[in-house]
Amino acid sequence: MLFPTTVAGSLPKPEWLAEPNKLWAPWKLQGDELDAAKRDATLLAVKMQEDAGIDIVTEGEQARQHFVHGFLERVEGIDFAHKVEIGIRKDRYKAMVPQVVAPLQLKGRVHALEAKAARGHTTRKLKFTVPGPMTIIDTIADQYYGDKVKMAFAFADLLNQEVRALEADGVDMIQFDEPAFNVYMDEVRDWGVEALERAAKGLKCATAVHICYGYGIKANDDWKKTLGGEWRQYEQTFPTIAKSSIQQVAIECKNSRVPIELLGLLTGKMVQAGVIDVANDEVETPEDVFKTIEAVMKTVPKDKITATTNCGMAPMRRDISEAKLHALGAGAKLARERL
Ligand code: ZN
Repeated sequence: MLFPTTVAGSLPKPEWLAEPNKLWAPWKLQGDELDAAKRDATLLAVKMQEDAGIDIVTEGEQARQHFVHGFLERVEGIDFAHKVEIGIRKDRYKAMVPQVVAPLQLKGRVHALEAKAARGHTTRKLKFTVPGPMTIIDTIADQYYGDKVKMAFAFADLLNQEVRALEADGVDMIQFDEPAFNVYMDEVRDWGVEALERAAKGLKCATAVHICYGYGIKANDDWKKTLGGEWRQYEQTFPTIAKSSIQQVAIECKNSRVPIELLGLLTGKMVQAGVIDVANDEVETPEDVFKTIEAVMKTVPKDKITATTNCGMAPMRRDISEAKLHALGAGAKLARERL
């Protein structure tokens, strides 16, 4: 089928699970009640995507507070009790982060609950997102390794352990989220892609990397204003990614200033093209979605295009995100009929 649809990863959480409309929202329940609520929210997220015509669904990241720290909470060697403030993404924002204080290892499974809940309740293809190694080490303080590449590779090994288990749970696609890839372009070339391949090693399911310019929050909007009329960061990293074993690349296309012709550097890759803006509450029409797909087709062969959202929808209003998902499904259907 042409133009299958998916979402970047996260969806807003119901207000009975976490405080709405914000990142890092605190949970409203604890213990067993929290686990049950996470599972219920996962089923709703899957159902909402199915009804909107999304072909490759996710669990909506309903069981994690934040896309990076959701993974870190299950890693031994990290001190969560003594967080420190650091500037992340080249100091674009300040965040309170935990510290690595001992050798890293997994305490057990990280995402089994929500992966199994989602798998048990949909026959559609299931994509699962985890943070990439470079983004993880940019969102944590190091008091142990003293070498960020070494620490990134240690995280890559832990990620590999979890994604292989997710594959065994029945996940069809693993996506690594690497927003740090358009902040540290030299490092992407020097070791970032290598760390990513290490994290994906041995997987037989589909593999993807999501790179982006961030959620629609103020710090990101301010940063984007400094990037000029054309965002050409990908020009430096796409050639390295094109040569890698990662099969798909998810990037934002709707309302972004990334010149579409840069996608031509991703020879042979399936491009998950963002056709839904998540930094803007204005709901796209199916016709808008169709037009973005048509524009991407000028550079990417049509059988290599998946339609998706620009980035995660976690901080959005729930009704707006639902309307946007419907526009995504309807727009891709329109594109299939016309193209
Ligand atoms: Zn993103």
